[in-house]
Amino acid sequence: MLENKSNGLTPLSVLGEFGLINRLTRNFNSPDSNIIIGPGDDSAVWHKNEKEYNLISTDVLAEGIHFDLSYCPLKHLGYKAVAVNVSDICAMNGKAWGILVSIGLSNRFSVEAIEELYAGVHSACQKFGLVLLGGDTSSSNQGLFISVSVLGSVDKNRIALRSGAKVNDLICVSGDLGAAFAGLQMLEREKKVFLDNPNVQPDLSGYEYVVERQLKPEPRVDIIDSFEKDDIIPTSMIDLSDGLSGDLLHICEMSNCGAVVYQNKLPVDHETGKVAEQFSSTGETYALSGGEDYELLFTVPLTQFSKVKDKIGIKVIGHILSAAEGVQLETDKGERIDLKANSWAHFS
Ligand code: ADP
Ligand code: MG
Repeated sequence: MLENKSNGLTPLSVLGEFGLINRLTRNFNSPDSNIIIGPGDDSAVWHKNEKEYNLISTDVLAEGIHFDLSYCPLKHLGYKAVAVNVSDICAMNGKAWGILVSIGLSNRFSVEAIEELYAGVHSACQKFGLVLLGGDTSSSNQGLFISVSVLGSVDKNRIALRSGAKVNDLICVSGDLGAAFAGLQMLEREKKVFLDNPNVQPDLSGYEYVVERQLKPEPRVDIIDSFEKDDIIPTSMIDLSDGLSGDLLHICEMSNCGAVVYQNKLPVDHETGKVAEQFSSTGETYALSGGEDYELLFTVPLTQFSKVKDKIGIKVIGHILSAAEGVQLETDKGERIDLKANSWAHFS
């Protein structure tokens, strides 16, 4: 009954991650007018007071899916579990203030190992000014799970939803893209070399940047602060957890619009390009399809061009089109091709 064994039941892969979420959540209409946004954006949103909304979001990291303890130090994992949640609050143009942390542990872990995980959680709490509110602890038959929920708030006039992009808005991105995936490729390759021959020590020199981007992602709290300082309010925003193509498609779907992004405008670090080449790919492909960069993808009205154009670390990569025009990539040769959601999704 519960498992799919050619018995007429639908395999998870038929719906994929986002189809499954839609199917599971479609019958939960909120009767409560205090709830502004339920499932579907980076955080849920509800009324706080005259000036602010409350924000809440949650993310689970599962061993073997999101991390591999043979190269991911537990302290980094604890930090990352918090950082990726803070990123979802940033994606609403909000500020995080508290977290709940739940862990599932198999008996292969020692107390000291879990203290190491929590040293990372602690370090993230200090860095992002978060209060630890509580959590839950369970045994697990296999592997480690860490699930963090984050609470935050946002000024009502400054909130950025996935659904606010308008035709002609500029599409902007912070930082550079594809680096976290490049780091993962390097770590996986060195792991394989080590397993094939344990006498050969992993050599990641020259790839420190991309490895750090994979193991210790940084939510762009600094960008949210600078939006406030420069009085920039994005019309829409999402954090890049699944790769530019898939995440831009989320904005376009929710905003009922199309988009064009220019291949030659995609920000790619030279280390990312170097790794991509070694894997017979390109930096731009990593930027479009690689996940876990935790940069911010957002749109602003054309009138704000002068405010964003010289901002360090922000790049204009395209603009919003009508829904009928589709979501496209303009290649270096000037050809336009449909952008596919070939980025990370569970069950696909
Ligand atoms: P993100 O990548 O920003 O963390 P997700 O892609 O994980 O967002 O989730 C997209 C939306 O679907 C979010 O609003 C999230 O709260 C909601 N969601 C995800 N999984 C579930 C679930 N199992 N039940 C209800 N809502 C879910
Ligand atoms: Mg998100």
